[in-house]
Amino acid sequence: MQWKSPKHPNFATNTGEERSINRVFCIAKNYEEHAVEMGGEIDRKRPFHFQKSFDSICFGPDVRYPSNTESLHYEIELVVILGSGGINMTLDQAELAIYGYAVGIDFTRRDRQNEAKDKGRPWEIAKNFDDSALLGTVTPKSDIGLLEEGWITLDVNGKRRQTGDLNQMAYKTVELIRFLSTLQELKAGDIVYTGTPSGVGSVVRGDLLTGQVDRLCPIEVRII
Ligand code: MN
Repeated sequence: MQWKSPKHPNFATNTGEERSINRVFCIAKNYEEHAVEMGGEIDRKRPFHFQKSFDSICFGPDVRYPSNTESLHYEIELVVILGSGGINMTLDQAELAIYGYAVGIDFTRRDRQNEAKDKGRPWEIAKNFDDSALLGTVTPKSDIGLLEEGWITLDVNGKRRQTGDLNQMAYKTVELIRFLSTLQELKAGDIVYTGTPSGVGSVVRGDLLTGQVDRLCPIEVRII
């Protein structure tokens, strides 16, 4: 399985291999308690998603506090990395397409997002900015199997802020891939942020964030 592009950022795997990131898909409202804390609910008809530019990808250990916000929020998420793609994929095809997994944080300008929601605008300004898509070391699925359950946590300065289990996702990873493949042809290097459990909150410069998902390499980053 080989895919690399000179134009795109490369992620590292726990075996030292490098691959290129293609597109960055992010699923919103995939955990009930987080949907409720955001004042909404899960859409049971279909998932809801947005995209970030691959320029927004960041590997740490520093994360630059963005301009134009007083409320930078963390969202700890399981990230799925595709090793192949397809269009109108079945659930079996979706499972076969998963190359691996990583811990990620979907950073969000929450104040700008609330304004966008109020005005019925897209979420672009809230979601797509430098360092907004933090990505940890990738663990291949061949090492750990299909990841559909296991704890997911985020600590800020050593205090636990987010706790959940991957089995709380309203839409499983394979369902998310199948859904996205109905909208465009998915390709190797596409990555999917699969939504965050409850407990999101804001951080300031100097804060140390630790994100963990059962069986994956943890991430530790500082806001600068
Ligand atoms: Mn998110």
